This record gives sequence, structure tokens and C-alpha cells, in this order.
Amino acid sequence: MQYYSLHNEAPNVTFSEAVIKGLAPDRGLYFPENITPLPDSFFENIEDLDNVEIAYQAIQQFVGDEIPENELRDILSDVLSFDFPVVEINDTIGTLELFHGPTMAFKDVGARFMARCLGYFNKDNDNNVTVLVATSGDTGGAVANGFLGVKGVDVVILYPSGKVSDIQEKQLTTLGQNITALEVDGVFDDCQEMVKTAFLDTSITDHKQLTSANSINVARWLPQLFYFIFAYKQLKKKNKEIVFSVPSGNFGNICAGIVAYKLGLPVKHFVASTNVNDTVVRYLETENYNPKPSKATISNAMDVGNPSNFIRIQQLFDNNFASLKNYFSAYSFDDNQTKKAMMEIFDTTGYIADPHGAVGYLGLKEHTLSSNEYGVFLETAHPVKFLPVVEETLKTSIKIPAQIEKVMNKKQYSIKIDTYKKLKEYLLK
Ligand SMILES: *Cc1c(COP(=O)(O)O)cnc(C)c1O
Repeated sequence: MQYYSLHNEAPNVTFSEAVIKGLAPDRGLYFPENITPLPDSFFENIEDLDNVEIAYQAIQQFVGDEIPENELRDILSDVLSFDFPVVEINDTIGTLELFHGPTMAFKDVGARFMARCLGYFNKDNDNNVTVLVATSGDTGGAVANGFLGVKGVDVVILYPSGKVSDIQEKQLTTLGQNITALEVDGVFDDCQEMVKTAFLDTSITDHKQLTSANSINVARWLPQLFYFIFAYKQLKKKNKEIVFSVPSGNFGNICAGIVAYKLGLPVKHFVASTNVNDTVVRYLETENYNPKPSKATISNAMDVGNPSNFIRIQQLFDNNFASLKNYFSAYSFDDNQTKKAMMEIFDTTGYIADPHGAVGYLGLKEHTLSSNEYGVFLETAHPVKFLPVVEETLKTSIKIPAQIEKVMNKKQYSIKIDTYKKLKEYLLK
């Protein structure tokens, strides 16, 4: 499989080159040259396939022959070693829980898959690859955890000071070994901008192989398509058309869902649910893409002003605005609405949703389901990751799971930076 740059001014690359480079030299995102639908029999017999088999068949064409079948299956069974249950909320709505991995956020799958691919590609190489990643919260922990101890790879994580939750900060600053956390005086967009600048700075890249572990990296982005197929497998017997509502920030997860749809997955509609960072919502209303600086919210992993994957979504719909709008809607909700939704879900069903999941729930309600449709909102993080706001809103306490307990008492270590120059000094030292 070849990948091309969406800016169309860089050479095509293979999967391994796309993974190692992250972003194309013309600053474009890599995109697969073609997406071949899976055979009908795959969806007809899906109940008989286990998660690793589903994942293997779905991802194989994107990896091509660059990882041998046995290795790829081993990577997938390692990556998918936990559950992805759809939990019923009421008769018409369920939630796909994506938080059963080691850092309790959905990014675990993409981060672990990418780490193992990069480890495989770099195993005979003497020069370390440096993974440089900006996080609005959950990416950092998932990437740190996924790459911890992977030979030949150093990880540098940039996070906005004071704008991630305590648990998120613990998860990305306490691991040590090949993981370094840089605490940036700024917002997420500043972190993302610094990372993008570093990739193009030849005074760094002449000395160091840099790559990204944000959802711009194809190995982080594509495995997220598994979730939508896993949900379908569980819901097929309902005989209803599925509407997915995806709490969206950089729009990587929902974009992977649309790839699953292109592979033939029966999906009626995609709803992108956002907090007040509503660039895509405004775009769908006006056809005018006008990014704004991000604003801080209680669903902080979605505080993104200029979602990097939206360009991939446009490409998946052949840059045709009308056909995009047929399958894709977007709605925005503020913190008050989010808290009210958390209370509504808790009071009517006893289910504790985190703020991101609650935004997803609101998206389904806004979209309004017909009687033949079943709505699924993605629960992208365990509520414990947003402990203060969840406990305060619901007036209840949450038991701390073992994965989280483990990091809470560890010592944090981060390096403070405030300018791009400081980042560069760190990388070159
Ligand atoms: C990253 C994240 C999102 C947003 O996902 P994108 O792929 O960036 O749209 C939503 N919820 C949580 C909890 C996240 O960590």
C-alpha cells in the first residue's frame, strides 16, 4: 500500500515510511492510495470472528507486506488484550466503552499499535527514532505507556501546563526510562504548533529522525477503525441501522470510523460531537473553514481549535460538501449542557459517563434517532480520569481502578519550556 500526502507536493511512501515520518515533508497528512472494501462475507460472518481476526482482516491492506502475517497477528493480539463492550443505556442508545486499556482512554489501541509497528521497523537500526507528541490530555499517557521500554525509540511529550487533569499528568510524567515530559507554558494548540514546526526544522531533522504519535500518524489513526467494527459485531442482532456519535477533538477517531464505513461496515450516519471548540460545526453550517484558538472546557481532550484530521474526512468524501453532509453531522455543546447530560444519564440509568462521553450522548439526542435506528456514543475515557468534575457533578464517588491507583503515588518529573527555541535546545542537546 502506498500513501500520498494530502498537500500533493511530496513523494508517495510505503506504510513503514509513513509511520516513521509521521507528517509528509510538504506538511500534508498521509492518506492511503486506495481503500478496498472487505468482502460481504466478512460482515455476514462477523459473529464467528474474534477481535484479532477482525482487526487483522481490516488493517491488512493498509500495512501491506511490510509486516509479515505472523508478526502482524502477534502485534494485534498484544494490542487488543482487553474488552470493547457496548453497554446499553436505554432501548435506543448504547455506549461503546473504549476505556478498558492500560491508561483507560481510547487512545491506548492506536498508541500501542504504533509503538509495536515502530519497534518492528526500527529493530535493526542503530539510530533511535524520537517520537514527538503534543497532548491535550489523554494522548500523552497512552503514548507514554504504549512506548515505554520500546527499544530504539525515545518519546518526548509536550503538554499544556495546568490544562490536563491530575491523573492525566501523572500518567505522562511518572514513567521515566525512554519517556520525557515537557510542560509547556501555553495551550494545546501551542504544543501542537511547536511539534509541527520541529518536524520541518532541518537543523533538527538533519540530526534526528523525528516522528509524531498524534493521530496524524497513520499507525495511530487507522487502528481506531476496529472499534466501529467491534460495535457492529455486538449490535448486528438488533437488526437496526447504527448511528455513531463520536466525541471529537482532532477528529482522528471519527475519521477512522469513516474508513471502516468505506471498508463496507453498515453505518447509517456519523455524528461528530464537540465541546465549544466548534470549528467543524461552523464549517458544516457555512462551508467556510475558519479555525479559532482552542478554549478550555471540562472535556479537555477535545479542546482543539484546528482539528488536524478534518482534511482526511473531506478526502474520504472526495471533497464533496454535499456528500459529506449526507453521512456526517456535527454539533457543539457547552460545559453546562455537558454536566446536565451527565446528571440525566446518571439519574435515569445509574450509568456514570465522563464529560467526553456525555458530549457524545448529547450529539445523539440532538441528531434524533428514527425508530429503525440505534445510537451508539463512544465512551472515550473512564470517568475516573476526570474525577473532580464527575464527582462534583454527580455527587457520587468513584472507585479508583487499579491501573490508575498504580500511578497516583509516583513522583512526577517534567521539564518546563515556554518557547520553540527551548524545545529545539532540548532536542539537540
Ligand atoms: C483524544 C480524545 C478525544 C478526541 O479524539 P479525536 O480522535 O482527537 O477526535 C475524545 N475523548 C477523549 C477522552 C480523548 O482522549
